Amino acid sequence: MVELYPWQHTQWAQLANRTQHPHAYLFHGPQGIGKHVLAQRLGQLLLCSNPQQHQPCGQCKSCLLLSAGSHPDFYAVQPEEADKAIRVDQIRALVDFVGTTAQLGGRKLVLLDPAEAMNTQAANALLKSLEEPSGDTVLLLVTHQLSSLLPTIRSRCVKQACRVPSPSEAVRWLQAQLPEVSKEDLAQLLSLARGFPLQAFRLHEQGAVQWQNLMLEELDKLRQGQQWPSAVADAWQAIPLLLIFDWFYQWTLLLVRQQITRSPCQTPNPLLRDYLYELTAQTECTQVLAFQDWLLQQRHAVQNRANLNRTLLLEALLVQWSDLISAG
Ligand SMILES: [Zn+2]
Repeated sequence: MVELYPWQHTQWAQLANRTQHPHAYLFHGPQGIGKHVLAQRLGQLLLCSNPQQHQPCGQCKSCLLLSAGSHPDFYAVQPEEADKAIRVDQIRALVDFVGTTAQLGGRKLVLLDPAEAMNTQAANALLKSLEEPSGDTVLLLVTHQLSSLLPTIRSRCVKQACRVPSPSEAVRWLQAQLPEVSKEDLAQLLSLARGFPLQAFRLHEQGAVQWQNLMLEELDKLRQGQQWPSAVADAWQAIPLLLIFDWFYQWTLLLVRQQITRSPCQTPNPLLRDYLYELTAQTECTQVLAFQDWLLQQRHAVQNRANLNRTLLLEALLVQWSDLISAG
């Protein structure tokens, strides 16, 4: 049985106590708060043939098959490769599954995560299943980009806003997972992950604190004319593009705030604090805001998995960043 996160118990109790379930749920909320686990647990409960006090029993044939990953009435859909789209043929196979009879005689269950990864064709193919649901099938969709789903998909599902942990719940959980990490590094990880603990844990596994420091070192060299944009782009090869855009966006927010308040920003990374504080006097607010618009547009393209040339995009980013500093 999947374990819930500590901040999910109240929401779980409400979900599990429902006497009736819709044919489609849409779990949504920011990345890194455990939406998948909540959906998975509901799936277990809905398939269990002998629930105990609104919990999956963990022992019936259905529960055992599910935990072995071989339940014939459970169907999971995800991109075949990380960060790639869910394709229309994957959804067609799902639609076929919905059309079959449950082999264990109970419900059938579909878990689709992340739903925003469906391309337009795939989303349209899924609509068919949402419009003409098969009586015994429950679809569980999970997304962290609710607004990028087709409105027709959103309106046909019962939406479940997943609870976001409080800052103290987030710290407590992360501390328990990473007892060897210092308090300062935990604070930095949570700040990088905008406070979402699972995302912070993932960033730790990827080495994100080191990545951000590497970025800052290279940017400093760029500013002092010791490095070319193309060489910086090379040095950042391992860092996910989306993360780079996220960070630059966060930095522009901090820069604008500093320009208004004229005091150093609150960030747990001392390297970042010093770097941004130095930049405050060298940049101009209106230009930072214009750059922010450009960042958002590009981030959107990255997120939509558009066919982008990574090196060219990073060079464009770095050239604009440099212009911002020299123009200020
Ligand atoms: Zn069971």
